Amino acid sequence: MKVRSRAMKNVAWFVLAALCASVSVYAAKEVTKYDPHDETRAQPAVVTPGEKAGDAPSDAIILFDGKGAPGLVSDKGGDVTWKIENGYMEIGKKEQGGGIHTKESFGNCQVHVEWASPSPPAGTSQNRGNSGVYLMGRYEVQVLDSWTGNNYEDNKTYADGQAASIYGQHPPMVNASRKPGEWQSYDIIFLRPIFDGDGNVVRKARITVLYNGVAVHNNLEIEGATAHKTKAKYSPHPDEMPISFQDHSHPVRYRNIWVRRLPEEPYLIKD
Ligand code: MG
Repeated sequence: MKVRSRAMKNVAWFVLAALCASVSVYAAKEVTKYDPHDETRAQPAVVTPGEKAGDAPSDAIILFDGKGAPGLVSDKGGDVTWKIENGYMEIGKKEQGGGIHTKESFGNCQVHVEWASPSPPAGTSQNRGNSGVYLMGRYEVQVLDSWTGNNYEDNKTYADGQAASIYGQHPPMVNASRKPGEWQSYDIIFLRPIFDGDGNVVRKARITVLYNGVAVHNNLEIEGATAHKTKAKYSPHPDEMPISFQDHSHPVRYRNIWVRRLPEEPYLIKD
């Protein structure tokens, strides 16, 4: 009997300890000092949304407005050299080409990008309408002609390299591609990685992507800087870095590009 009661005591202590632990975990999840509907709580800043879906809201930084690229520079230095006409810019060849990147640096951010792959299409697999949006200059959301219409079998590529993939890591949940030449959109919400003082990643980057309005990544962990045929890994970098756009030697077009900075904890309104 004694042995049995000692065992029961141990069980009781275990249950009590588990309860205490769960309470402290719950307490750690408290994100605000406010009670529900607290009248003293600060109101959110006012942002005027665009007139229609995809239009820049009032607090967006305009990177390309159809006439010029006020927020972008060439990787070679100086103004963007891509051809600008009819409301879009197109990746050029030789001296008109080269990657481009934002003048300002960004960490957590919301990005809107519209792009179109060449029509008629040319090339196969990765050699067909390839470009890319690189958050912090190193985490690529792939741009590629991944339309599943005519001759798609000729154009198939590895799943983690198709349009809207996190290149070399994660295919999109679905392929929501439009035809070559048609305008497509990415709406990206990106949370930067966090490193400790020794350069170890303590929080991986996370990304949510809507591709033509369709959710294709939902708060996904990025495994490290995207790379070709190489397992991704992190190396430490500043909290904010430019967003870059890839020249993969294909005349991909871009228009209506804007970005908004996001706070570290979007659900918190600081006092
Ligand atoms: Mg690419």
